[in-house]
Amino acid sequence: MRKKIIFGNWKMNGTNASLERFLETVNANLKGNDVVAGLAVPFTLLATGEKHAGKVKIAAQNVHFAANGAYTGEVSIEMLQELGVKYVVLGHSERREMFNETNESVNQKVKALLAHDMTPIICCGETLATKEAGQTISFVNDQIALAYKGLTADQALKTIIAYEPIWAIGTGKTATAQDAEEVCRAIRQQLAKLYNETTANGISILYGGSVKPDNIKELMNEADIDGALVGGASLKADDYLALVDYK
Ligand code: 13P
Repeated sequence: MRKKIIFGNWKMNGTNASLERFLETVNANLKGNDVVAGLAVPFTLLATGEKHAGKVKIAAQNVHFAANGAYTGEVSIEMLQELGVKYVVLGHSERREMFNETNESVNQKVKALLAHDMTPIICCGETLATKEAGQTISFVNDQIALAYKGLTADQALKTIIAYEPIWAIGTGKTATAQDAEEVCRAIRQQLAKLYNETTANGISILYGGSVKPDNIKELMNEADIDGALVGGASLKADDYLALVDYK
């Protein structure tokens, strides 16, 4: 059985004080039945996140693949592990579009994280132009093939995918549950092609892009959508609780 996974992504928001309050409220009220609840926070909030995590898994929003060295401004896997972090969001479209993240660097980071028993949450998703050109599935399938290049089936099973159409991020435009399902199903078929059915059926695929308390249920009802990666609506504890306890 695949796990249901709902992660917030605070992007470049929050302070240590606001995160501590948030996690106290969430942990006091979270039911979290059958759902792995998580939150990706900026590097400077990770220590506070781990200290007050409770039932919430804490994720970083990026990492460097090198063990150490002359990479000013970057953070290594060992540095995250020292704080207890086990999840890292990789290849978010904002990092691809604004910070030169590529399929190749995502692949290097996936491999480095798996070598350290950490869980990558690998983001993929198309622009509006790609969607309008009818190329969504081939584009996303390429992103997946490149992210998983050189990985064994056993390694692939230790990853999580987040499908986030760029045109739906922060725009209020959610893909319809059916559209999101269609792409998530295609991603699963791609995984079956790259590996096998068992592996494809064992990897959780999340949807992201304007997910809110009022559309989470519909999305979670789809067969190939195993969870959500939520930006704006994860910033307030009440909304976060409504998302994770959507049932
Ligand atoms: P929004 O939920 O704000 O659209 O952001 C989605 C996202 O990018 C999560 O990683």
